[in-house]
Amino acid sequence: MGLLDGKYAIITGAASPRGLGKATARLFAEHGATVAILDLDEALAAAAAADLPGEGHVGLACNVIDKDACQTAADTLIEKWGAVDILVNNAGITQPLKLMDIMPENYDAVTDVSLRGTLYMTQALTPHFRERKTGSIVNLSSVSAQRGGGIFGGPHYSAAKAGVLGLTKAAARELAPDGVRVNALCPGFIATDITAGKLTEEMRTLVLAGIPMGRAGTAEDVAGCALFLASDLSAYCTGTEVDVNGGSLIH
Ligand code: NAD
Repeated sequence: MGLLDGKYAIITGAASPRGLGKATARLFAEHGATVAILDLDEALAAAAAADLPGEGHVGLACNVIDKDACQTAADTLIEKWGAVDILVNNAGITQPLKLMDIMPENYDAVTDVSLRGTLYMTQALTPHFRERKTGSIVNLSSVSAQRGGGIFGGPHYSAAKAGVLGLTKAAARELAPDGVRVNALCPGFIATDITAGKLTEEMRTLVLAGIPMGRAGTAEDVAGCALFLASDLSAYCTGTEVDVNGGSLIH
């Protein structure tokens, strides 16, 4: 028996083959969920969905910074499936910029995908979740929100991910009476394409030295925590931030 038998889940930014979204989609599917992968490119989203175990998974194009696109994707899936139970706001981009190098377009790009995207997808599904008095939303923040960067992303990335924490907690407070839970995941240094080939060997050594468990995390490490937050195992958790960082935040 799977933890998500009969559940329908939407995961944004899940087309990236080695990414956290795709690993989460795979684990959700293994646990019985039917999954929709939303990403910028329709063909890549469809290919990622087709690669999941089981039948009925869907890949859709959806740029999460476009409010209408978010609503259209949500409406399409509610109509197709009759219900959506889980939303994982995973789409995100980062840039390794120093404070003074952040240009207006850098600020817009990085904060928009994480923060505006999370807000828009949450808004698109909230009426449906409220109507059914159930729903679990999992938002991808980052350890860089908690400790002010230090791995790869610049201050605008830390700010965007800290914004995601605030949005998570405020939405959790507002939606709790409706039976809808909202939680955040704060991954540490996880080996995916978001940093692939972009970290110098020196930087990598430095980052690993700051991780008590002495290794980068895997996408599966994050997926396991997403499964916990998405499933009824975490039925009494809302507004929480779950750290997945090998001990990086132990003071
Ligand atoms: P990734 O780069 O492998 O995948 C990100 C995906 O988001 C890509 O498929 C991309 O096409 C998609 N995307 C980008 N902009 C989009 C948009 N506007 N609309 C829809 N999709 C869009 O990244 P990842 O490492 O798997 O990261 C997933 C999430 O986890 C991100 O929010 C990231 O900030 C966060 N995170 C990652 C790490 C890490 O070390 N990898 C650590 C902490 C937090």
